[in-house]
Amino acid sequence: MPAPTPFGSRLQLARKMAGLSYQGLADKLGGLVTKQALHKYEQGSMHPDSEKLIALANALDVTVNFFFRQDPVQVELENVEFRKQVKLPAKERDAILSRITDEMGRYLEAERLIGVSKKFVNPLPKDEVTHPEEAEELAELVRKRWKLGVDAIPSVYETLEQQAIKVMECHASSTFDGLNARVDDHMVIVMNDEKEVVRKRFTAAHELGHALLNIPEGLDHKTKEQICHRFAGAFLFPREQFMERVGPKRARFMLDELIEWKQRWGMSFKAIIRRSYDLGIINEATYKRALINYNVAGYSKGEPEDYRIPERTARFEQLVLSGLSQDILSLNQAADLLNMKMGVFRKKYSAVVGGPAGVVAPGGAGGRGPLAPGGTPAEPGTGRGARLWSSPTPTCSST
Ligand SMILES: [Zn+2]
Repeated sequence: MPAPTPFGSRLQLARKMAGLSYQGLADKLGGLVTKQALHKYEQGSMHPDSEKLIALANALDVTVNFFFRQDPVQVELENVEFRKQVKLPAKERDAILSRITDEMGRYLEAERLIGVSKKFVNPLPKDEVTHPEEAEELAELVRKRWKLGVDAIPSVYETLEQQAIKVMECHASSTFDGLNARVDDHMVIVMNDEKEVVRKRFTAAHELGHALLNIPEGLDHKTKEQICHRFAGAFLFPREQFMERVGPKRARFMLDELIEWKQRWGMSFKAIIRRSYDLGIINEATYKRALINYNVAGYSKGEPEDYRIPERTARFEQLVLSGLSQDILSLNQAADLLNMKMGVFRKKYSAVVGGPAGVVAPGGAGGRGPLAPGGTPAEPGTGRGARLWSSPTPTCSST
């Protein structure tokens, strides 16, 4: 059997990103290509003509360029840890991993081309963490070392991006909350883009726990999760502030209070109730009763109110745009790195593409100031940007 060609492996990556089997893709192509032919394309024993190539790109929602892009940066995800390992179907897990691999490849390529490489540094000591209580203090230490103060964190994504953690969002079913993975020295944290803001914040903080804490591999899954939940709670709403507002003892929660804390600290009712139990503010009986009331009120299907500041990733997009504004990247390269068709790219960034010399403001990206013109490559900030990809088919986006 011939070895897979670069085209073959790119086709396979695109197919997996779409979560399609050979048959599924053949069906989507409406009989234009058989599943046997698809198999041969991927194996490298046959090549599609241009008509089929375009049909493949459309069916898989990638550009034709995608198939011919080399993977200049080898991406292999290590230590991948999913928040919900049990319920996530293997096919969707594969699709998510493929999309992250693709996006991470483009992200690292953009950093390489633009010459930006801020390394992720773990601020915590290497001591093993085996009990949830230890995570409480370590979360406080992270806040201290990252100079986050003791107040609510306006955007968790932005905070992580400032620490050189690659933050991505992935369109996935509700069984997927998030994951963290390593690529060489890089740390990647991925969230489901469908979740409400408080959920994304908690998942991001939970995954941060996995990324930073030295939890022994042999520890049981449940304890590992409890440790990272505790870390997330303490990271989002530190103990002292929590005790001041919620504690020290209580027998019930009023809805108005829960709403106020949720909007102020960006944490769900459920996480606040759990944190009250963890910190000894409510006893086990009150905790159980609160959970029953929570379910009876229908909150497990959706809580009222959400945190008002949206969580959006911005760094990758800004990195590419800064490369474009400094003429380090061509239009084609920029569109390709963001996995956008040229027409879509031009439309979205009309001001960048067609703006007067010296004035660079991303059109349609909403409310971002000018990017640093000229000089040394700028490390892009992490302001909030509009979503780049809003395709109905599964795509992984870093917007
Ligand atoms: Zn976890």
